[in-house]
Amino acid sequence: MGKQLPMQGEKTVVDHITAGLAKVAAVLRSQAWEGGSARKLTPTQGQILVLLSERASKHMRLNDVASELCLTAATASDAVITLVEKKLVRKERSPEDQRALVITLTAAGRREVQQAAGWAAVVRAGVKSMTPDEQAVFLRGLSKVMYSLQQQGAISVARMCVGCTYFQPYVHVDAARPHHCGFVNKPMGEGQLRLECPDFIPGSQPDQAGRWQDFLRGEVGR
Ligand code: SF4
Repeated sequence: MGKQLPMQGEKTVVDHITAGLAKVAAVLRSQAWEGGSARKLTPTQGQILVLLSERASKHMRLNDVASELCLTAATASDAVITLVEKKLVRKERSPEDQRALVITLTAAGRREVQQAAGWAAVVRAGVKSMTPDEQAVFLRGLSKVMYSLQQQGAISVARMCVGCTYFQPYVHVDAARPHHCGFVNKPMGEGQLRLECPDFIPGSQPDQAGRWQDFLRGEVGR
Protein backbone atom coordinates (compact mmCIF):
# COMPACT_ATOMS: atom_id res chain seq x y z
CA MET A 1 0.00 0.00 0.00
CA GLY A 2 1.33 3.43 -0.91
CA LYS A 3 2.24 5.94 1.75
CA GLN A 4 -0.15 8.77 2.62
CA LEU A 5 0.86 12.27 1.67
CA PRO A 6 2.48 13.67 4.81
CA MET A 7 0.47 16.91 4.63
CA GLN A 8 -2.89 15.14 4.72
CA GLY A 9 -2.96 13.72 8.26
CA GLU A 10 -6.26 14.43 9.97
CA LYS A 11 -6.59 17.84 8.39
CA THR A 12 -9.04 18.74 5.65
CA VAL A 13 -8.42 21.08 2.75
CA VAL A 14 -10.50 23.64 4.69
CA ASP A 15 -8.02 23.37 7.59
CA HIS A 16 -5.09 23.88 5.25
CA ILE A 17 -6.62 26.90 3.51
CA THR A 18 -7.55 28.45 6.88
CA ALA A 19 -3.99 27.93 8.12
CA GLY A 20 -2.64 29.42 4.90
CA LEU A 21 -4.85 32.50 5.24
CA ALA A 22 -3.68 32.91 8.84
CA LYS A 23 -0.06 32.86 7.67
CA VAL A 24 -0.75 35.46 4.96
CA ALA A 25 -2.54 37.63 7.55
CA ALA A 26 0.45 37.31 9.89
CA VAL A 27 2.80 38.42 7.11
CA LEU A 28 0.59 41.41 6.30
CA ARG A 29 0.42 42.47 9.93
CA SER A 30 4.13 42.11 10.56
CA GLN A 31 5.22 43.73 7.32
CA ALA A 32 2.70 46.51 7.40
CA TRP A 33 4.12 49.06 9.72
CA GLU A 34 7.31 47.64 11.17
CA GLY A 35 10.73 48.51 9.88
CA GLY A 36 9.56 50.93 7.22
CA SER A 37 8.46 53.57 9.68
CA ALA A 38 10.60 55.42 12.18
CA ARG A 39 7.38 56.19 14.05
CA LYS A 40 6.75 52.53 14.90
CA LEU A 41 3.02 52.52 14.38
CA THR A 42 0.92 49.64 15.58
CA PRO A 43 -1.01 47.67 12.93
CA THR A 44 -4.24 49.31 14.16
CA GLN A 45 -2.79 52.81 13.78
CA GLY A 46 -1.53 51.81 10.33
CA GLN A 47 -4.94 50.47 9.34
CA ILE A 48 -6.52 53.76 10.36
CA LEU A 49 -4.08 55.73 8.20
CA VAL A 50 -4.79 53.49 5.21
CA LEU A 51 -8.55 53.78 5.76
CA LEU A 52 -8.38 57.58 5.95
CA SER A 53 -6.32 57.58 2.78
CA GLU A 54 -8.84 55.34 0.96
CA ARG A 55 -11.77 57.45 2.16
CA ALA A 56 -10.07 60.79 1.60
CA SER A 57 -13.15 62.20 -0.13
CA LYS A 58 -15.46 61.27 2.78
CA HIS A 59 -15.77 62.91 6.18
CA MET A 60 -14.81 60.12 8.56
CA ARG A 61 -15.87 60.37 12.18
CA LEU A 62 -14.47 58.26 14.98
CA ASN A 63 -17.45 55.89 14.95
CA ASP A 64 -17.03 55.44 11.15
CA VAL A 65 -13.40 54.42 11.71
CA ALA A 66 -14.36 52.01 14.51
CA SER A 67 -17.16 50.51 12.44
CA GLU A 68 -15.15 50.09 9.22
CA LEU A 69 -12.25 48.42 11.01
CA CYS A 70 -14.36 46.43 13.48
CA LEU A 71 -12.72 48.13 16.47
CA THR A 72 -14.30 49.07 19.76
CA ALA A 73 -14.90 52.79 20.21
CA ALA A 74 -12.28 52.85 22.97
CA THR A 75 -9.61 51.15 20.81
CA ALA A 76 -10.29 53.44 17.87
CA SER A 77 -10.21 56.48 20.14
CA ASP A 78 -6.87 55.50 21.74
CA ALA A 79 -5.30 54.87 18.34
CA VAL A 80 -6.55 58.18 16.94
CA ILE A 81 -5.28 60.08 20.01
CA THR A 82 -1.81 58.60 19.42
CA LEU A 83 -1.94 59.47 15.72
CA VAL A 84 -2.90 63.05 16.59
CA GLU A 85 0.06 63.21 19.00
CA LYS A 86 2.32 61.95 16.22
CA LYS A 87 0.87 64.69 13.98
CA LEU A 88 -0.24 62.13 11.39
CA VAL A 89 -3.96 62.93 11.64
CA ARG A 90 -5.98 65.88 12.82
CA LYS A 91 -9.47 66.31 14.15
CA GLU A 92 -11.51 69.14 12.74
CA ARG A 93 -15.11 70.32 12.59
CA SER A 94 -17.19 68.60 9.96
CA PRO A 95 -18.20 71.00 7.18
CA GLU A 96 -21.57 69.21 7.13
CA ASP A 97 -22.22 69.38 10.87
CA GLN A 98 -20.25 71.84 13.00
CA ARG A 99 -21.02 69.83 16.16
CA ALA A 100 -19.24 66.75 14.77
CA LEU A 101 -15.50 66.09 14.55
CA VAL A 102 -14.01 64.43 11.50
CA ILE A 103 -10.57 62.84 11.26
CA THR A 104 -8.30 63.59 8.32
CA LEU A 105 -4.72 62.81 7.37
CA THR A 106 -2.09 65.52 7.73
CA ALA A 107 0.58 65.90 5.04
CA ALA A 108 2.89 63.81 7.26
CA GLY A 109 0.15 61.18 7.53
CA ARG A 110 -0.19 61.03 3.74
CA ARG A 111 3.59 60.60 3.43
CA GLU A 112 3.48 57.83 6.01
CA VAL A 113 0.84 55.96 3.99
CA GLN A 114 2.92 56.32 0.82
CA GLN A 115 6.08 55.08 2.53
CA ALA A 116 4.25 52.06 3.82
CA ALA A 117 2.66 51.31 0.45
CA GLY A 118 5.47 48.89 -0.28
CA TRP A 119 4.38 46.61 2.55
CA ALA A 120 2.04 44.65 0.32
CA ALA A 121 4.79 43.95 -2.20
CA VAL A 122 5.69 40.57 -0.73
CA VAL A 123 2.11 39.36 -0.88
CA ARG A 124 1.56 40.94 -4.30
CA ALA A 125 4.55 38.97 -5.62
CA GLY A 126 2.90 35.79 -4.40
CA VAL A 127 -0.42 36.70 -6.00
CA LYS A 128 1.30 37.50 -9.29
CA SER A 129 2.74 33.99 -9.34
CA MET A 130 -0.79 32.72 -10.10
CA THR A 131 -2.06 32.46 -13.67
CA PRO A 132 -4.94 34.82 -14.67
CA ASP A 133 -7.38 31.89 -14.38
CA GLU A 134 -6.10 31.04 -10.91
CA GLN A 135 -6.38 34.69 -9.89
CA ALA A 136 -10.02 34.80 -11.06
CA VAL A 137 -10.89 31.67 -9.07
CA PHE A 138 -9.03 33.04 -6.06
CA LEU A 139 -10.88 36.35 -6.32
CA ARG A 140 -14.21 34.60 -6.44
CA GLY A 141 -13.21 32.49 -3.44
CA LEU A 142 -12.12 35.56 -1.50
CA SER A 143 -15.46 37.25 -2.32
CA LYS A 144 -17.23 34.29 -0.73
CA VAL A 145 -14.99 34.26 2.34
CA MET A 146 -15.48 38.00 2.83
CA TYR A 147 -19.24 37.75 2.35
CA SER A 148 -19.34 35.04 5.01
CA LEU A 149 -17.21 37.14 7.40
CA GLN A 150 -19.59 40.01 6.81
CA GLN A 151 -22.66 37.84 7.51
CA GLN A 152 -21.03 36.62 10.74
CA GLY A 153 -20.37 40.21 11.81
CA ALA A 154 -16.61 39.69 11.81
CA ILE A 155 -16.00 42.55 9.35
CA SER A 156 -17.99 45.63 8.47
CA VAL A 157 -19.81 45.88 5.14
CA ALA A 158 -17.21 45.30 2.44
CA ARG A 159 -17.50 47.52 -0.60
CA MET A 160 -17.48 44.55 -2.96
CA CYS A 161 -19.42 43.57 -6.05
CA VAL A 162 -21.45 40.75 -4.52
CA GLY A 163 -23.10 43.20 -2.10
CA CYS A 164 -23.45 46.09 -4.54
CA THR A 165 -26.75 47.30 -5.92
CA TYR A 166 -25.13 47.71 -9.36
CA PHE A 167 -24.00 44.08 -9.53
CA GLN A 168 -26.00 41.74 -11.78
CA PRO A 169 -24.59 38.19 -11.66
CA TYR A 170 -24.83 35.87 -14.64
CA VAL A 171 -26.94 38.02 -16.91
CA HIS A 172 -24.70 37.50 -19.97
CA VAL A 173 -24.20 34.30 -21.94
CA ASP A 174 -20.52 35.07 -22.51
CA ALA A 175 -18.80 32.66 -20.09
CA ALA A 176 -15.74 34.91 -19.97
CA ARG A 177 -17.79 37.92 -18.85
CA PRO A 178 -21.08 36.67 -17.38
CA HIS A 179 -21.71 39.48 -14.85
CA HIS A 180 -22.75 43.08 -15.36
CA CYS A 181 -21.81 46.27 -13.53
CA GLY A 182 -24.68 48.74 -13.82
CA PHE A 183 -22.47 51.63 -12.71
CA VAL A 184 -20.25 51.48 -15.79
CA ASN A 185 -22.93 49.55 -17.70
CA LYS A 186 -20.49 46.89 -18.88
CA PRO A 187 -20.13 43.12 -18.67
CA MET A 188 -17.49 41.85 -16.27
CA GLY A 189 -15.60 38.60 -15.79
CA GLU A 190 -14.75 36.78 -12.58
CA GLY A 191 -11.31 38.35 -12.63
CA GLN A 192 -12.90 41.80 -12.55
CA LEU A 193 -14.88 41.29 -9.35
CA ARG A 194 -14.08 44.09 -6.90
CA LEU A 195 -13.44 43.57 -3.21
CA GLU A 196 -13.03 47.31 -2.56
CA CYS A 197 -14.79 49.61 -5.00
CA PRO A 198 -15.23 53.37 -4.58
CA ASP A 199 -18.49 53.25 -6.55
CA PHE A 200 -20.09 50.56 -4.39
CA ILE A 201 -23.65 51.24 -3.25
CA PRO A 202 -25.08 48.74 -0.74
CA GLY A 203 -28.39 47.21 -1.71
CA SER A 204 -31.23 46.56 0.74
CA GLN A 205 -30.95 43.36 2.78
CA PRO A 206 -33.46 41.38 0.64
CA ASP A 207 -31.79 42.65 -2.55
CA GLN A 208 -28.38 41.60 -1.31
CA ALA A 209 -29.63 38.15 -0.31
CA GLY A 210 -31.27 37.67 -3.72
CA ARG A 211 -28.15 38.82 -5.56
CA TRP A 212 -26.01 36.51 -3.50
CA GLN A 213 -28.27 33.52 -4.31
CA ASP A 214 -28.09 34.40 -8.04
CA PHE A 215 -24.31 34.52 -7.74
CA LEU A 216 -24.23 31.03 -6.15
CA ARG A 217 -26.85 29.57 -8.54
CA GLY A 218 -24.92 30.78 -11.59
CA GLU A 219 -21.87 28.97 -10.31
CA VAL A 220 -23.77 25.67 -10.17
CA GLY A 221 -25.13 26.15 -13.68
CA ARG A 222 -21.70 26.61 -15.27
S1 SF4 B 1 -20.00 49.68 -8.89
FE1 SF4 B 1 -18.13 48.65 -8.19
S2 SF4 B 1 -18.84 47.20 -6.62
FE2 SF4 B 1 -20.64 47.85 -7.78
S3 SF4 B 1 -20.87 46.25 -9.36
FE3 SF4 B 1 -19.68 47.94 -10.26
S4 SF4 B 1 -17.53 47.34 -9.94
FE4 SF4 B 1 -18.78 46.08 -8.56
